[in-house]
Amino acid sequence: MNGHLLSLVLPRVRELTAYHLERHDAGIKLDQNENGLGLAEPIREEIARRLVDVAVDRYPIPGQPVLREALARATGWPAEGIVVDNGSDQLLHTFARTFLEPGRVALAPTPSFFVYSLAVRLAGAELVEVPLDDNYRYVVDALLEAVAERQPHVVFLCSPNNPTGSTLQFAELERIVAAAPGMVVLDEAYWEFAGWNARELMNDHPNLAIFRTFSKALAMAGIRLGYLLVQPEFRDEIVKVQPPFPVDCLAREAALVGLEHYDLAHERAREIVKARDALYRRLEALEGIDVFPSQTNFLLIRARGGAAATYRGLLERGIVVRDVSAHPLLRDCLRVSIGTADENESVYTALRDMMTP
Ligand code: PMP
Repeated sequence: MNGHLLSLVLPRVRELTAYHLERHDAGIKLDQNENGLGLAEPIREEIARRLVDVAVDRYPIPGQPVLREALARATGWPAEGIVVDNGSDQLLHTFARTFLEPGRVALAPTPSFFVYSLAVRLAGAELVEVPLDDNYRYVVDALLEAVAERQPHVVFLCSPNNPTGSTLQFAELERIVAAAPGMVVLDEAYWEFAGWNARELMNDHPNLAIFRTFSKALAMAGIRLGYLLVQPEFRDEIVKVQPPFPVDCLAREAALVGLEHYDLAHERAREIVKARDALYRRLEALEGIDVFPSQTNFLLIRARGGAAATYRGLLERGIVVRDVSAHPLLRDCLRVSIGTADENESVYTALRDMMTP
């Protein structure tokens, strides 16, 4: 096609790289932080029973009120302040389009979830990045300084953080939310693995927006469902940016079943946490591997043999992980999701064998 036509595409879109994930036939898939234990069987069966009666020949009810009521019960936050969307990925874009435009400023930690910078750049706003420290811990004073200096319209925080697993303490979150002149996005995609969340902060801080997802502890990455807790007045504005039916009826029904059995999801999250901590301790003892403390369902490791070689070595042993080493602060790093007991054993054995000369 003629280059002139292609120049019709916005420069800020052309500058981006499309999301790409290497597909491998590896038997052990630990590259997307999915739920390594999967859906509990009673939930899977209940979803199958309930889907039969879903009215797929009708449009969903606008705003998905039944789902939002169920989320209100699960979170203790009113349905009038809950936005549902096609995955929290999409919701982050929806949010950015509501609050950001050229001339506005957003702040995000780095390294963190890549969608924040993508959403900010697509909205045409300026992104200010605040690095984590050498051990991938948040530097709260640096965040507060940047907030004071740049007065961002939106601050993105991810706790526990992807891809590092690190967290902000409740009191630290509170300081940042109180200091921020604009909105603060707190992405709690992995909160169940940390065992606590900052929902309570919503009561006193109207600029806080908490993002959650069904993709991790609730083991439903395939239904594409994320939600946002925010002041009802903000919800009324954010939904204007969404298409009329961002969440379909099948996703809604599966999500309702998931919420009815949240206790099972918490149980599995606790199992995953135990497995994570056990793998952490074993990897910590390996020569040639640095592993970073994590409150999530994955571990960030640094392989002294280099990320590419370690990635390939794991792949040869049937294990696919995420190579995150392209980030300038993540040299030699790989992100490994926690899987089943056998899968975690395979990860350990593979790394041990590779690190032993
Ligand atoms: N936030 C974080 C921190 C994540 O790691 C992910 C998924 N990797 C998401 C949001 C996206 O979740 P969803 O599947 O709901 O789009």
